[in-house]
Amino acid sequence: KSFEALELREELLRGLSVMGFHKPSKIQERALPLLLKNPPQNLIGQSQSGTGKTAAFVLNMLSRINLDIKQPQCLVLAPTRELAKQIAGVATIMGAFLKDKGLVVFEAVPQTLPPRGQQVEGQIVVGTPGTVMDLIQRKRQLDVRGIKVLTLDEADSMLDLSMGDQCKKVKNLLPKNHQVVLFSATFPPSVLQFGSLFAPNANQITL
Ligand code: AMP
Repeated sequence: KSFEALELREELLRGLSVMGFHKPSKIQERALPLLLKNPPQNLIGQSQSGTGKTAAFVLNMLSRINLDIKQPQCLVLAPTRELAKQIAGVATIMGAFLKDKGLVVFEAVPQTLPPRGQQVEGQIVVGTPGTVMDLIQRKRQLDVRGIKVLTLDEADSMLDLSMGDQCKKVKNLLPKNHQVVLFSATFPPSVLQFGSLFAPNANQITL
């Protein structure tokens, strides 16, 4: 089992090698073949932090973006600004060899928002549901018409923080037929119920 066998693009394999990721972690080994399938399928995965889940969903996004356009194509929702920053950082590092080809990762936190009237640029946008919702609807600075992947990280924490409705609102503004990827450390009934609506017909993996 290797990253090479997953047919990841060469720049991503180089990035993995520089990072010292020589073989997929258990969650990556199980999630990546499902995530990378075409046509894209939804996925609900149970995994704690420390398992390598971030790299799994980041590799999926980096594999699916079109670098020739700067329009947002992948959206990640996370429960805290700190986690959003961390995820954006992972996407930037894993995509280091795509930077020359035009990769832009946008961290949607209050400190980084573009000036009024200016659109968010970046194929990958990461933020908390509140900030993302605000950018889309109130400020009209985030064009979601090109979004093809929606990723939720730590969905259980988002539900605990009452962010479930905001996540649903964001999802309802996206084009039909986007891929939904949902990771959660735990799978209580509330998360499973949310998941069945949020990510219909998803492949499910538990570790
Ligand atoms: P996460 O579960 O996303 O919080 O990641 C846990 C840690 O594992 C991070 O510090 C990653 O840098 C590291 N990591 C992720 N994937 C791999 C891999 N395939 N090989 C070695 N380390 C990894």
